[in-house]
Amino acid sequence: MNIDTAQWERMLPTEFREAVDALPVVFLPLGTVEWHGEHNALGLDSLKAHELCVRAAKLAGGGVVHPAVYGGMGGLDKPATVVMEPELAWENTLLRPWLEQLCYEFHRQGFKAIIILTGHYGHNQQIVVREVGARMTERLQIPVLGTPEYWLAHDAGYLGDHAGIGETSLLWFLHPELVAIDRIRQDPEYGATDMIERGSSPELGKQYADLIISRLASLAQSMLLWNDTTRVAFVRAERALISAQVKCWRIADPWAAWRKLITQGLTQYGRLLIERRFSEIEQMAEQMQELS
Ligand SMILES: [Zn+2]
Repeated sequence: MNIDTAQWERMLPTEFREAVDALPVVFLPLGTVEWHGEHNALGLDSLKAHELCVRAAKLAGGGVVHPAVYGGMGGLDKPATVVMEPELAWENTLLRPWLEQLCYEFHRQGFKAIIILTGHYGHNQQIVVREVGARMTERLQIPVLGTPEYWLAHDAGYLGDHAGIGETSLLWFLHPELVAIDRIRQDPEYGATDMIERGSSPELGKQYADLIISRLASLAQSMLLWNDTTRVAFVRAERALISAQVKCWRIADPWAAWRKLITQGLTQYGRLLIERRFSEIEQMAEQMQELS
């Protein structure tokens, strides 16, 4: 591929055709504008997800990145933050239909696989995005993955945070001009200790980003080759994760299933997904919902 962009909105039609011919995969980055401490740009979630997708498409040698969708489930009660739908809303009326319509459109345009990557990850955002992936895989009969980016770097030690060491490092690496680490000292919350200031670095961000980008690129290439049986196994695994998350939310608290990932060291999702070890993802989901 000769083109130097993977961004849908910046392509000339000939570049778009070339990118789709090379790899008929579309990436859909998600995020929002939300307070991320005094030290990070407000669009961190979307900017991070978008840049990871762009680099993944370039590495994969094709595919197109749709502009980031801003808005979703949840958001902090903080300045400069848009909350489209509350974090604890049982149903959502905006994000899900919007994403599903985009998936239909991508399918109509001839894409053969869809990767939805959310850089914003309240528990409900994660549930909705993964549900959309599983449901659209069946509706469209093409693979649709919906996941937060950190699930692809869980085994590298990034367990997901908000404006903490992981997110700050990722933005610092991907968009160095958008992090002002010394400003954190003016932040009574994120700067309460020097943990984030000392722990964050572009080098750490590169470590996480490189793994996420390589896994996204690998998925973009391999998802095109998934057959019916693979897709069915994928959907079963994704639904098992959703069931565990929803069940634990009902019987315990919204984050109960995610805590199990950390306390039980269930950090292999990225690797299992790449290697199509879907039954092991189902087993992981089983362990997630064993609350004692
Ligand atoms: Zn964030």
